[in-house]
Amino acid sequence: MDTAVTSEATPVFLLVDDREEGRTFLARLLHFRYPGARMVEAASGIEALARALDAAPDLILLDALMPEMDGFETCRKLKAQAETAAIPVLMVSAVLTDSENRISGLASGADSYICKPFENDELLAQVNAMLRIRHHEQALRAQQRVLEDELVTRRRIEQDLVEARQTAENAALAKSEFLANMSHELRTPMNGVIGLTDVLLDTELDAEQRDLASTIKTSGETLLAVINDILDFSKIESGRLELESRPFRLRDLVIHALNLIQRQASGKELALFWEIESRTPPLVAGDEIRLRQILSNLLSNAIKFTERGEVRIHVAFCDLDHHNGELHFAVSDTGIGIPAEKMNRLFRSFSQVDASTTRQYGGTGLGLAISKQLTELMGGRMWVESEPGRGSTFHFTIRVRVPQLDEQGRHDTHSAVFGRRILLLDSDDEARGRLAALLTSWEMKPILGGTTLDLIEALLLRQQPAPEAILLDEFLLRAARPEQVAALHRWQTAHGGALLLLHTAGAQGAAVPDVAPLHVAAQISRPVSASNLFDILSRILAPGNTQAEAGTGIPAGPLAHQHPLRILLAEDNPVNQKVAIRMLERMGYQATIASTGADVLMALKQQYYDLVLMDLQMPVLDGLQATRQIRTEFPADRQPYIIALTASALVGDRDKCIAAGMNDYLRKPIRELDLRAALGRCPRVAEKSA
Ligand code: ADP
Repeated sequence: MDTAVTSEATPVFLLVDDREEGRTFLARLLHFRYPGARMVEAASGIEALARALDAAPDLILLDALMPEMDGFETCRKLKAQAETAAIPVLMVSAVLTDSENRISGLASGADSYICKPFENDELLAQVNAMLRIRHHEQALRAQQRVLEDELVTRRRIEQDLVEARQTAENAALAKSEFLANMSHELRTPMNGVIGLTDVLLDTELDAEQRDLASTIKTSGETLLAVINDILDFSKIESGRLELESRPFRLRDLVIHALNLIQRQASGKELALFWEIESRTPPLVAGDEIRLRQILSNLLSNAIKFTERGEVRIHVAFCDLDHHNGELHFAVSDTGIGIPAEKMNRLFRSFSQVDASTTRQYGGTGLGLAISKQLTELMGGRMWVESEPGRGSTFHFTIRVRVPQLDEQGRHDTHSAVFGRRILLLDSDDEARGRLAALLTSWEMKPILGGTTLDLIEALLLRQQPAPEAILLDEFLLRAARPEQVAALHRWQTAHGGALLLLHTAGAQGAAVPDVAPLHVAAQISRPVSASNLFDILSRILAPGNTQAEAGTGIPAGPLAHQHPLRILLAEDNPVNQKVAIRMLERMGYQATIASTGADVLMALKQQYYDLVLMDLQMPVLDGLQATRQIRTEFPADRQPYIIALTASALVGDRDKCIAAGMNDYLRKPIRELDLRAALGRCPRVAEKSA
């Protein structure tokens, strides 16, 4: 194979002829034209093949007629071997000059054929042309080799890049998965910390102990919020976040989000407003939990960075087609604002506008990054307008489905509370004012009934028409005189009114007042959760709902007395067992414990249970597998109600639990209130057999 490009001035010629004078003639002729040329001679075809290999000539002048191996045969062999195939061959003949021979010369691979006698100049011109072609060919080939080398280098670089990217992606995925697993592991002990502090706070404590325990609880909740942020962030990063789509009431969601941050806002001179444009459908379908998370994050920031003035939520709706629309939320505040040059950093993860704010306000700098990614996952976007010193408005949009009319009808119980008259009797004047404002915002008709029961008789007589419900501070009822209880009883019997007890946290363990002969429709814990209150009122005041049926919400008194249940707690973690058992005990329940899914099956075979509180992650047989086995292997009359308990906050888990055959779902850390409500929904043996 030729490697170097030959110089046109100093070529190497291989002269092949069995006759010496033939070779000499050609050598002289060529020498005259190419004085720097090197002449290599061969007297036979065999020798020519050897010389062509070791001398690497630029051109072979080959006699056609030779003994043993003639020019045609030699040419074929030269062209057949890779090392010599590219060397041009000029066949020369004095005898075989007819066109047939010329054709077979060319057919054997010769590049040209010249017949003797020839004009010297004609031969030289042919040699010259062949050398030029040879030279160009070599130059092209050299260039091709350079290109090929470059291609190989590029391919290698590309390959390296692909490998580097793969390594980086694997590392990122490993990091995200590690974070997701870690935060999940961290949530489990937090269940113990928060749950047991809750239990502790409900025991007899002196002021200092109460203060210390409350601090533990607040710190625990802050830590849990950070862990949740990291968990979300890593799930989004590793693409493991799935969104749900379920119908929900937008108004409730907004109220609930505001309710969550109310405590944070208290102590500041802040007014909270919300407004949903009237053309917005009351019911939309999307991921309610994630939407609430975004709103809560924006609201919490707005309150964090605003000392006085107002925080406002505005919701607008835009139709996309019959079944889909876009919601536009704007959360505005009158706080410190954000300098223009810092705005681009806002939505980056772990980034805060001013590092010193971390110390002043706390936070991880993940909230906005998560919120923005969530809105994008929901088909929308997020942006901000702000003026330092005057405030900020965070906007975001999301796409939602608009449920069909029948779905709307089923969910929209807003009309149940509209215009209803409710009497507020609360020893806390301020709380009473806040409740009245809340009820007015739902277009109810609250009646401010005073901070004692002193005037209750007169009040109930005077109010025309009579109130349909009374929201009564439990403390007032404890201190009520018999004639006041009698007045309430008269109102209840005459009007079928619903009595709702406002219950103060901390007094929960204490004896429940003997309310007989009054009927308590629901007991509501303070601080009052707007959405919870709305749900309870909607159900109690729903048309056709008598007060006897209205024991929804949280039933008064130790739940176990009114709602006895045989409970099996399936949980392998001893701390979590303790949390659940203590909570259940405080509601008056005794539960049996099973530590694995297999133990659950065994326990259920031995005895009937109304309810299994089922942890998802257990050794031997996990909660989902155990549930599937229960649902397929047990007869209908031995089927328990199953509530999932899980520390994994992965979205989509609820669907998995329901698909496996569970009835309800509670996330750890379990809140006592949620557990009470879930137990309240579990049917009793008597109801089941009825
Ligand atoms: P963090 O958990 O630190 O609050 P976020 O991602 O929610 O993280 O917010 C990032 C930063 O953006 C905050 O630390 C703050 O500097 C700025 N910021 C967010 N909301 C507001 C607001 N309403 N007013 C002023 N600054 C804000």
